[in-house]
Amino acid sequence: MLDHVSLAEAAVSVHGLRKTYGERTAVDGVDLDIPRGEVFALLGPNGAGKTTTVEILEGYRSRDAGEVSVLGVDPADATPQWRARVGIVLQSVTDLSELTVAETVRHFAGYYPRPRDPDEVIATVGLTDSAAQRIRLLSGGQRRRLDVALGILGRPELLFLDEPTTGFDPAARRQFWDLVEDLAREGTTILLTTHYLEEAERLADRVAVIASGRIVEVAEPAALGGRRNAAATVSWTDPDGARRSVRTAEPTRTVTELAATFVGEVPGLSVTRPTLEDVYLEMVGLQ
Ligand code: ATP
Repeated sequence: MLDHVSLAEAAVSVHGLRKTYGERTAVDGVDLDIPRGEVFALLGPNGAGKTTTVEILEGYRSRDAGEVSVLGVDPADATPQWRARVGIVLQSVTDLSELTVAETVRHFAGYYPRPRDPDEVIATVGLTDSAAQRIRLLSGGQRRRLDVALGILGRPELLFLDEPTTGFDPAARRQFWDLVEDLAREGTTILLTTHYLEEAERLADRVAVIASGRIVEVAEPAALGGRRNAAATVSWTDPDGARRSVRTAEPTRTVTELAATFVGEVPGLSVTRPTLEDVYLEMVGLQ
């Protein structure tokens, strides 16, 4: 049973969630607790069960078992009042609308009790120059920005971002990260799914790795898969031009010894630790 304290404090609380499609088990006993104000990323390979989980939390899919509370409400009993507190940015919405960007954002603002200013939202997602453009004529990345604009328009307490930056160019992606950080600073709880490990590392307070419908680990990005205590790799180039590297728990000692050997600059020196992508790939590869 979920106790009343956790219901009041948690933005999302999930226990024993299961979902099957015919013979296939898509979600196989997932537990998740996301406190208010947290940016939480769900990582996992294609078909791991991320979208199924998120859509159950959004109230768009039924479940077979488990307890789910989102902002204190079971999404299976979603009301319009609850929907207004939740923002959703869906995966690749294709819209062939003849309406312009500005018309669309103004139209959707009418659905919310306390919407943000439509022109400000358009500026925030970097679409001011395209405000008079018909949606049908937007590029894929611009359409995605519009999806984000519609997701944040109603000042949601909880924002679901399902692969939000797919199709963004690198500059747009960085701009979007700044936007997410601003929303997080304002206290918005954010549940993000992404295949970009760099995005999860930059934005998430905690990440969960899901594979075959089960949570493998939940941790801060810097600590996932024992990363914090992982050995470092020190690499350099020997005078004969050969590339050398050693794995060590004491990289400072290795670098000091190298500096003494080379008397000055160590050619091609680098010290690296496993990236989030390294540990992630190892984790999902073992499943
Ligand atoms: P991706 O990273 O590709 O978006 P995902 O982690 O979001 O993947 P889901 O879309 O949740 O994965 O799918 C989990 C499993 O459930 C997959 O095996 C998928 O084929 C299956 N599945 C998803 N939706 C349905 C459906 N409506 N009917 C039948 N099977 C489905």
